[in-house]
Amino acid sequence: MSKKINIAIDGWSSCGKSTLAKQLAKELGYIYVDSGAMYRAITLYFLRTNIDLTDKKKIEDALKNISLEFIYNPSTGISEIYLNSENVEYLIRDMFIAEKVSDVAAIKEVREFAVAQQQKMGAKKGVVMDGRDIGTVVFPNAELKIFMTADNAIRVQRRFKEMFEKNPNVSVEEVKNNLELRDYIDSNREVSPLKKADDAVIIDNTNITREETLAKVMTLVNEIV
Ligand code: C5P
Repeated sequence: MSKKINIAIDGWSSCGKSTLAKQLAKELGYIYVDSGAMYRAITLYFLRTNIDLTDKKKIEDALKNISLEFIYNPSTGISEIYLNSENVEYLIRDMFIAEKVSDVAAIKEVREFAVAQQQKMGAKKGVVMDGRDIGTVVFPNAELKIFMTADNAIRVQRRFKEMFEKNPNVSVEEVKNNLELRDYIDSNREVSPLKKADDAVIIDNTNITREETLAKVMTLVNEIV
């Protein structure tokens, strides 16, 4: 049997990270972890409980009341996220979460809370995790690190299509502004900003298909395992 590794996939919003991560996990029989879903679920909790994002004490107390869990749903083929036993996988994809998540994810205490759980999930290897700081902070020793990019226009188009299917009232402008703002906050925050790890391989998938992206990365995986 080949050895199990951890695969870290980082990059800008909507450049195909989760699509690639899911395909890789399926191909390899690994566990896929959507780290962004954790920040989104924490954001949902903070919004529901009206947490003031400048109040450290309130944030620390709130985090003590948050339990996050991924449970595999065989009918959708994905591990769905549960916030205190409630399935919030679909709710957290809404725009009201996208508008706040980068502010929440910039908070040190929030990151420590999420990163500790992410590191536990990867302790036994065999994990594909996507996010913004996976190769730099969560798994600095990951055997394979990918940094994904794609042209802005393509990313906006992809995210718009995804959002529009759920909510026909969403506009391209709204999606574009949100992506730009999130990328800006994510890459300029003080704690664990989004950046390419020195040893990450860049994959630009602007002009290549999902299958071609997967094939490229599988070649890299096979060189390692
Ligand atoms: O991946 P997704 O777009 O769902 O992530 C939502 C947000 O969560 C990002 O814009 C970012 O602010 C935050 N995030 C993060 N670190 C991660 C994953 C996501 O800060 N590892």
